[in-house]
Amino acid sequence: MFKWSKKKKDLNFKNEIHEDLIEDYKVENIEGSVKLEPYPSICPCCYKDVTPKEVLSRINPVTKKLDIILTCTIHDCKEIYIAEYEPSNEVLYKNHYDQSHIYKFKTFKPWSVTSHDVFDEYINGISPKFQKIYKQSVCAEHNDLDEIAGMGYRKALENLIKDYCVINENNEAEKANIRQETLGNTIKNRVTDPTLKIYAERIAWIGNDHTHMLKRWDDVGLEDMRDMIKHAVNHIVGKHKADEFKNKMPN
Ligand SMILES: [Zn+2]
Repeated sequence: MFKWSKKKKDLNFKNEIHEDLIEDYKVENIEGSVKLEPYPSICPCCYKDVTPKEVLSRINPVTKKLDIILTCTIHDCKEIYIAEYEPSNEVLYKNHYDQSHIYKFKTFKPWSVTSHDVFDEYINGISPKFQKIYKQSVCAEHNDLDEIAGMGYRKALENLIKDYCVINENNEAEKANIRQETLGNTIKNRVTDPTLKIYAERIAWIGNDHTHMLKRWDDVGLEDMRDMIKHAVNHIVGKHKADEFKNKMPN
């Protein structure tokens, strides 16, 4: 088995090749090192940022793709998964002794909806459906179902925002209104936190782009949606934690 350097985030094929893998490398005829773009930094099982540990790597002699079997290092996950990389035409460097090939990340195999929690338990408490839809959307995105993923992220946001507004509303009739009205109206009339409003509006805008035929926002996409959802969630959790400490330690 060969190892990668954690610092350089690359693989060295020359020095430490497991005997079982030599056949594959002869077929591929790779000499030198491989640079991964990008390094796999999210776990497809627990959805957390992670520096995974390599278990085994091989190049498929038929498809020429590089499969890296990884294990998540998050203590309550430890799942095994595969990161699939495709060879690019780019060579990072080449000299008389060595050369470095660039492999581009394609997908994780398998991307599946797991039982692991993605968000803080406070979020799952106020909106369990949000987490379920979010996880399904991530799976869709990484299986190249990008149109469905966009609609999914929007639906996830709708559940989160509405559930959040419902728990902050005491009047039962108003709670029912929140559930029935459009997401746009909920964001406009009931989300009072300016930061949360910025994220919610924009996630909804991109989500609408994925629902309609004509696109308004060309330079923003699924990654931005995921990013903003994460920030919106962190903002809600941060506010909740601050309230908890305020109650525990009043002025
Ligand atoms: Zn994990």
